Amino acid sequence: MQYDTQRDAPHPHTTGLIHHPYKPPGDFQAPQPGVFKASTVYFPTVADMRRREWKDKSAYTYGLHGTPTTYMLEERLCSLEGGLQCVLVPSGLAALALVALAVLKTGDEVLIPDNAYGPNKALAEGELRHFGITHRYYDPMNPDDLSSQITPRTRLVWLEAPGSVSMEFPDLPEMVRRCRERGVLCALDNTWGAGLAFKPFDLLADGAGGEGSLAVDISAHALTKYPSGGGDVLMGSVITRDPALHLQIKLCHMRLGLGVAANDAEAVLRSLPSMDLRYKAHDQTARALAAWWQAQPQCAQLMHPAFAGAPGHAHWQALCEREPGTGLAAGLFSVMIDARFSQAQVDAFCDGLQLFKIGYSWGGPVSLVVPYDIASMRQSWPVHLKPGTLVRFSTGLEFAKDLISDLGQSLRAHLPWP
Ligand SMILES: *Cc1c(COP(=O)(O)O)cnc(C)c1O
Repeated sequence: MQYDTQRDAPHPHTTGLIHHPYKPPGDFQAPQPGVFKASTVYFPTVADMRRREWKDKSAYTYGLHGTPTTYMLEERLCSLEGGLQCVLVPSGLAALALVALAVLKTGDEVLIPDNAYGPNKALAEGELRHFGITHRYYDPMNPDDLSSQITPRTRLVWLEAPGSVSMEFPDLPEMVRRCRERGVLCALDNTWGAGLAFKPFDLLADGAGGEGSLAVDISAHALTKYPSGGGDVLMGSVITRDPALHLQIKLCHMRLGLGVAANDAEAVLRSLPSMDLRYKAHDQTARALAAWWQAQPQCAQLMHPAFAGAPGHAHWQALCEREPGTGLAAGLFSVMIDARFSQAQVDAFCDGLQLFKIGYSWGGPVSLVVPYDIASMRQSWPVHLKPGTLVRFSTGLEFAKDLISDLGQSLRAHLPWP
């Protein structure tokens, strides 16, 4: 076969389709940003390739280092949480792991609240321990306990508000102050607050989170929950306001090869505009259900930070409720079912629910229920918790009255009050 590269048109079904000359007109405007998918990104020349700076958002280098879609999502998440830099990871748990791997080294110690998200503890007990990084659990409701556990080896303190499952709301500003005093990095798991209930980089709400304000160093967020809002995307973010700390995290992120899929980033971008409305709807429904539970004799204790008497309620008020009646809380709460009922009865109650599905995670349209065995999750039974069996509810977007009648029917059937 003879080729004449001077004259032959490119093969129409291979080269012609790959190197096609048509370009659609630019400046396409529509409500949703486009989805850019890439591993390879082109450079016009070798010199451009060598010059390309990949550590910031000035250009593109490789799909893993960012695309227009991921840059856009990162910037919007910075606006949501009040940060300046963001990296995206494939899950909320990956965000927690990235923080640990980026800032801890052999010989360091990390302090974790005893009511932390369980898999964060498992990471400390597994990989971190294997790497010679030790951990200790502190009482999240006692800043003095946190201070007393900080040693010269302490490099990182995790904060969570409220704690997982038992929902105690800590004195977050005081905890951050204690870390500042001792020069220890503090990272917040901000999944519950989601950037809406309070400002992690401006805890005193006395400025825009600038110099002199009280801020966490790092906010990690399971975007899987409210930013996704669909129960169908796994993603996490790590947000900072310090360029050097961000670079440390970004370099670790690059070395670990973490990235997110463009279609997932697009799904979160599509959900972000409705997040504020959804969060408030989840919150209102959760409070309606929690108020209903309070009136049931089977409820030995209600754990919802916006309710008087709940552990840390005053701290929630101080941080989230600047004006009376304006405070936000996520759609999550737990109920301690009276100790006279067995675990099997409580399980049957959960099984008997029709609208509530049994499943982990939260933030999607469907209400979820999970019974938890607190005794196996904590160092010891927390003093502020009544005896009983804990059930956690996360409200979806269903009509509150329908959810309450669902709770009522299963309660009457499986947990009858004598
Ligand atoms: C769900 C959750 C995570 C982890 O998010 P995944 O995307 O499921 O890995 C981390 N922290 C908290 C508080 C969570 O609720």
